[in-house]
Amino acid sequence: MTTARPSAAAFASTGDMQAKTVSFDEIGKGLYAYTAEGDPNSGIIIGDDGCMVVDAQATPLMAEDVIARVRSVTDKPIRYVLLTHYHAVRVLGAAAYEGATIIASTGTRNLIVERGEQDKASEIGRFPRLFRGEGSIPAGLTWPHVTFDKSMSVWLGRREVKLMHLGRGHTAGDIVAYVPDENTVFSGDLVEYHSACYCGDGHFKDWQKTLDAVEMLGARALVPGRGAALAKPAQVGEAIALTRDFLTRLYGAAERAVAKGATLKEAMAMVREAMDTRFASFAIYEHCLPFNVSRAYDEARGIEHPVIWTAERDREMWAALQG
Ligand SMILES: [Zn+2]
Repeated sequence: MTTARPSAAAFASTGDMQAKTVSFDEIGKGLYAYTAEGDPNSGIIIGDDGCMVVDAQATPLMAEDVIARVRSVTDKPIRYVLLTHYHAVRVLGAAAYEGATIIASTGTRNLIVERGEQDKASEIGRFPRLFRGEGSIPAGLTWPHVTFDKSMSVWLGRREVKLMHLGRGHTAGDIVAYVPDENTVFSGDLVEYHSACYCGDGHFKDWQKTLDAVEMLGARALVPGRGAALAKPAQVGEAIALTRDFLTRLYGAAERAVAKGATLKEAMAMVREAMDTRFASFAIYEHCLPFNVSRAYDEARGIEHPVIWTAERDREMWAALQG
């Protein structure tokens, strides 16, 4: 059965206080990746007359660091903030981008309406380090100004940014941002690189199809949701393959567990059996595992709509599976 691990002692990532080193890399003409060793990434797209920031960071204070990096490479205004999905670590920093238009999918807005408050409390409780300057978050939630169902183009002067909801995956509302003139994609958490995928709000079967659609873009470069920026096609392929393998092993084990009538705790052991040797070294692997197993087990049992995580349910699940 499960073995106790040192990282399993503290709830979720409450024991992770080690600050990460930020990298700010140019991955194409006027395209930058703000990455931090497995912490949530942001992307920057600079056009003729303004910029778009992809994912806002967790707090306005943390977003100020992104803005300072943008200012080191351009003085053009940040006109748009794209939210790839609704998770608090990506949206609650949006207030720092004063005057910017916030864009999200219709699906993301619906999730903010339905579970934004619970998600905010849950995420802050799970990973306090990721909410540095929590006091700078304004009251209430972050709301998009513009939403769309499937796709829309934003023109930064002559530069087109195609925003696409390619299907459900990490959440029901994920968007990718694609810049055709540099054949580069900003994938949000649909694709990760040497980081675990968080699947607690995921749709496993659809995620594989959505990954196919990301792959079909044939991007030269990709900024994942977590992990290093990928500036070569071979690395893009590797990241998509790793993400696919992660999801296949996780959901496959959950399906087998459900088929044989296993309990959730037994399903957790089967998932570890399928995944630990390959993925245990990935960032936030132990943090994600109980939430991932729980959601995979639910989907395999036919529960279509992910159950809302609350600060209370988080602790119960952790105690049951990682305690
Ligand atoms: Zn996310």
